[in-house]
Amino acid sequence: MSFTADSLAQSCGPVRFESIELRRVSIAMTEPFRISSGVVSTKDAILARVQEKSGAFGWGESSSMPGGFYSSETPDSCQAELAGKIAPAVCSREFANMAALERFLLDLNASRFSTVAIESAAWEMMARRRGVSLRDLLGVPDRRIASGLAVGLQDTVGALLQTLVKWNVWDYKRVKIKIKQGHDVALVTAVREMLPGFPLFVDANADYSIRHLDVFKELDRFGMLMFEQPFAGHDLEGLAELQRHVRTPVCIDESAESAAQVKRAIEMGACRIVNIKLQRVGGFLEALRIIEVCRQHGIPVWMGTMPELGIGSAHALALASHTQFAYPTDVEPSSRWYHDDLLTPAIELTSGCIKPPTAGYSVDPEKLERYTTWRETIG
Ligand SMILES: [Mg+2]
Repeated sequence: MSFTADSLAQSCGPVRFESIELRRVSIAMTEPFRISSGVVSTKDAILARVQEKSGAFGWGESSSMPGGFYSSETPDSCQAELAGKIAPAVCSREFANMAALERFLLDLNASRFSTVAIESAAWEMMARRRGVSLRDLLGVPDRRIASGLAVGLQDTVGALLQTLVKWNVWDYKRVKIKIKQGHDVALVTAVREMLPGFPLFVDANADYSIRHLDVFKELDRFGMLMFEQPFAGHDLEGLAELQRHVRTPVCIDESAESAAQVKRAIEMGACRIVNIKLQRVGGFLEALRIIEVCRQHGIPVWMGTMPELGIGSAHALALASHTQFAYPTDVEPSSRWYHDDLLTPAIELTSGCIKPPTAGYSVDPEKLERYTTWRETIG
């Protein structure tokens, strides 16, 4: 890339939304998603469709998980924030460029899980105004994107192995399994036996601390790609201490809230890999800054997912073919998590990779109506 994130943001403008349409959509999941406060079987997301006077429009998705599984935000809180605070504040206001829009959104003191819907929609609108793809606007090359299977916590080791078979793990470029205290070494041992040599890693979603160093020393024997977020997001010192004791690279996810935080983590030795999620960092601009910080420090990154529905997934894919992305993405085919989705064509896996269509994905209007459970238009 010959531009920095900030010069790109300054060159894209002006930005003015004549209308913002918000919708909540609800789609049944193919399998229950196990979370700390229970189990969810439907995916709810808040969608934003922004439009300018020229007719150019863009879609964005706010896709937090319910129940505080990953963050304190929920679909209810993001819906309330987008409808009550963010959309009324930005609609019909003129921003000189994308940088000014971002500054305004930051000053609202709203959650990034909410503002991402507006930020990403605005980038899509800018791309449409210029008649280019979002990927081209962001300066990202057109490459096939390797995809990895991610599997949540299961009741037993047998159930985990069955899930890997059910989703045909061999169709993917790697697999990641969730672990938590008391459910770790035995799981990895069983998966390793089933898949010797297959690229594998674990995601602990911050369930451990340095008190569990011995667990990670044991896990270090399995030659895994990484340990994703072993300790709490704020515990960079603990993560750095862990990294000093294990060969397996530590990857941050929940810790990687901003480019400044990622820089701090890298400089402390708290990570050797970074998982980037558009939802967590509030959109493309901060994600591009994180990519730059990682490139400067020689740290590889990869594209994570909540998982989002189609619009959020398409946005993740627009960035995921960036050359700094060195590991397969968590974005999976549309049919993996959801019985249906809003995109046409659906996201498909071919030889372990996703190749977004040249003309891009679009939103199916009939499906959009079918899955909408709430809507509100501002402007
Ligand atoms: Mg994670």
